[in-house]
Amino acid sequence: MATFRQRALDEAASHQTKRFYAEEGPVSSYFGQNVLDVDKMREYMSENAYNAVLASVKFGAKLDRSLADEIADGIKKWAIGMGATHYTHLFQPLTDSTAEKHEAFVSVKDGIAFEKFKGTALVQQEPDASSFPNGGLRNTFEARGYSAWDPSSPVFVMDGTLCIPSVFVSYTGDALDTKVPHLKSLSALSDAATSVARLFDEGVNAVKVNLGIEQEYFLVDESLYNARPDLMLSGRTVIGHTSAKDQQLEDHYFGAIPSRVSSFMKDFETEAYKLGILLQTRHNEVAPNQFECAPMFCDATKAIDQNMMLMIIMQKVAEKHHLKVIFHEKPFDGVNGSGKHCNWSVVTDTGVNLLSPGKTPTKNLQFLSFYACVLRAVYKHNYLLMTSAATLSNSYRLGGGEAPPAVMSVFSGSTLYGIFESIMHMGDAKVSAASQESIKIVNSLPEIFPDNTDRNRTSPFAFTGNRFEFRAVGSSQNVASAAYVLNCIVAESLNEFRAYVDALEMAGEDRSSAVMAVVRRFITESKDIMFEGNGYSKEWEIEAEGRGLRAVRNVPEAYEVYHEKQTVDLFSKLGVLSPTEVEARFEILNETYVKKLQIEARIIGDMCLNHVIPAAVRYQNILIENIKGIKEIFGEGYIQFCSAEVETLKKISTYINNVSEYVDQLVEVRKKANRIADISERAKVYSKDVKDMMDKVRIGADNLEMLIDDEMWPLPKYRELLFF
Ligand code: ADP
Ligand code: MG
Repeated sequence: MATFRQRALDEAASHQTKRFYAEEGPVSSYFGQNVLDVDKMREYMSENAYNAVLASVKFGAKLDRSLADEIADGIKKWAIGMGATHYTHLFQPLTDSTAEKHEAFVSVKDGIAFEKFKGTALVQQEPDASSFPNGGLRNTFEARGYSAWDPSSPVFVMDGTLCIPSVFVSYTGDALDTKVPHLKSLSALSDAATSVARLFDEGVNAVKVNLGIEQEYFLVDESLYNARPDLMLSGRTVIGHTSAKDQQLEDHYFGAIPSRVSSFMKDFETEAYKLGILLQTRHNEVAPNQFECAPMFCDATKAIDQNMMLMIIMQKVAEKHHLKVIFHEKPFDGVNGSGKHCNWSVVTDTGVNLLSPGKTPTKNLQFLSFYACVLRAVYKHNYLLMTSAATLSNSYRLGGGEAPPAVMSVFSGSTLYGIFESIMHMGDAKVSAASQESIKIVNSLPEIFPDNTDRNRTSPFAFTGNRFEFRAVGSSQNVASAAYVLNCIVAESLNEFRAYVDALEMAGEDRSSAVMAVVRRFITESKDIMFEGNGYSKEWEIEAEGRGLRAVRNVPEAYEVYHEKQTVDLFSKLGVLSPTEVEARFEILNETYVKKLQIEARIIGDMCLNHVIPAAVRYQNILIENIKGIKEIFGEGYIQFCSAEVETLKKISTYINNVSEYVDQLVEVRKKANRIADISERAKVYSKDVKDMMDKVRIGADNLEMLIDDEMWPLPKYRELLFF
C-alpha cells in the first residue's frame, strides 16, 4: 500500500510550470488598475464630494456624513465596473492578519434587483466580531466592534470584492487593531520631528515616515504541504530530520530562480501591480526554497497595507500553481528562517530625507540631530523595541544564531561611527559654534554616505546610508506592531531634543552650538547601543550583558516590558495607547502565545501517535520477523547473522518508548499549565515546560525517521519539502 507521502510525492511531480495571470502590454499599462486612488475618484463624484475625500486623505479631516452617500455611490459605480459583486471593510485585528466580512451589493425592492451601497456602509461596518482578540476591552455579551473607513488608504477590488481599508475600534473607542496606534504614532512622530526640523528650516510643516518592507517566504508544493498536518495547522514543521544537504553549500542565495517559482513570482507580481504595489526585487534567499521580494518604499501606512495585501495575493496566486507560501518565521529547523526587514526613514513635506546627510553644514547638523535622536530612542527602549518583534513563531528564529540576535544594537558603519567617537571626545569645554572641532565634524560629513556600502548583516538595526533597517521583524508579522513602537520611541527623543535645545537657547547659547551640545549629549548617553562587530558572536553576548542591554530570550518574560512604567508612560504621553490599551495588548500577546504553542503541542502529540509510532511499529515487526527467521534457520549462532537488525530493533524500541512516554508527559504539563489562571504566568510555563517537552518528543521522532524504511515513512521529509 502506498503511503500518503508517496501519493503526495507523485502528485507533486505532476505539477506543471505555467503562467495564469500573464497580462498583455507593459506593466505601466495595467499598474494600479484595481485601485481607486484619489485622482481616479474625481471621475466618479461631484467636486464637493471629491474635495471632501481629498481633505480627509491629505489632512485627516473628518468626512461630512451628508456627502458620504454620494461618495459611496461613486465608489460603487467604479467597483461594479471592475466586476465587484460584494464589498468588505478590511481591517487588521491584533492577530497579525487581516479580517474581512463580505456583503453583497445586490438588493431587491418591489421585485426589482439593484445594487445598493449607502454612505453608512462605506463609513462604518459592525462585524459580529466578538471572537477577535480584545484583551478584555470588550466583553462578548456586548460584542460591538466597529470598523471605520480610513480614507488615507485607497479602496480596491480584489477577487470580485470591493475592499475598504478600515480601522477597528471597540464601542468605547479603544483600538482593537494595529492600525489605530500606528496612525496615531505617525502623527506623534510628525509633530515631534517637525519641531526639530524647524530648528533648521522654518518652512517644514509635517514629517512623514517611509517604509520599504522586504518580505521573505518559503514555497512548498501543495500536495506535500497537505501531507504534513504540522505545516497545515501551525505553519511550521514540529518534527522532521534535517536534510543531508540544506544550505551548507550556500548555493541557493541569489541562485537561478527555478522555473516553477519564477512563473509564480511573475503571476503574483502581475496581480500586485494591478493593486498599485510597486514590487522591485525578487531573488532566492539563503535557505533552500526560500525567496524574497521587495517593493519600492513608500508612505508607511500604504506600505503596511500593501504588505498585508501582498501576503493575501501571494497565497491566492500560489493556489493556481499548486504551491503554498509559508510566511512562518521558522518553518524548518536547521535552515535559516524568514524575516520582514523594515527600511525606515523620515522625510519632510519639503522633500528632505532627515536621515540623509546633505551638502551643507546645516543639513549635516540636522542629519546628526535626527540620527542622535534615533540612537537615543533605541538605546532607551532597546528591550521594548526588540520585544515588538517577539512572537512565538519569531522566537524560533530570534537570537538563534541567525538574523537577528536577541539583543538590540545599532550599526552605523565605520565612517559614521568614527564621527560619533570624535563628537564624544570633543573638548569638554562648552561646545560653541566657533569650536573648530564641531565645524570640522559637520563639514566632513557631506556626501560620505550615499555610496557607503558598509553593511553588517548581523545587526538587528542598521544604518544603510539614508535609512535604518530594522531586521528583527518576523515574516508573518504585521509590520505596524513594530513600526508604531519605533515611531513612538523616536518621537519621544525628538520632543526631548527640542526641549533641551530650547533651554540652551534661552540660556543664551546660539542655535548651532545648542544643537551640537544636545547631539553630543544624546550620542554620549547612548553609546552603549552602538555596536559594529558580529552580532551573533559569543563575545557580543557577554559584552552586551556587561553594557546592561537585555536580551529577549524568553518571549512571555519579554512581554513584561509592557508593564514597565517607562513603556506605559511613553504611549500615553504621546496619546498613542492608553494604559488600558497597553494592558489589553499585553494580555493578547500572552494569549496568542499560549494558543499557538498549545496547537503546536497538540499537533506534535497527534503526529507521533498517529503517524510516527504506527510506522515505527510496522518496521519493528518486520525486523522481528526477520530476526525470528534467521534464528529458525541458523539456530544457536543466529546472532552473528543479524546483529545489525537486533541493534536497530533495540534503538527503534527505545525511541518508540521515549516518544510515547514524552507525549504523555507533554499532555500532563499542558494540563497543569492550563490550570494557571493568570495568562502571563501560564504563557511563561508554556514557554519553558511545554516547549522543553516538545523538544524531547522531537528528538525521538526525528531519530525514528532516520531508522525506518524510507518507503514506510508517512510524512514528506525535509529533502522533499525543501527542494523543487
Ligand atoms: P537589501 O536586501 O540589500 O537590504 P532590497 O533591495 O532587498 O535591499 O530592499 C531595500 C528596501 O529598502 C526596498 O524596499 C527599498 O525601496 C527600501 N528603501 C530604499 N530607500 C529607502 C528610504 N529612503 N526609506 C525607506 N526605505 C527605503
Ligand atoms: Mg533584502
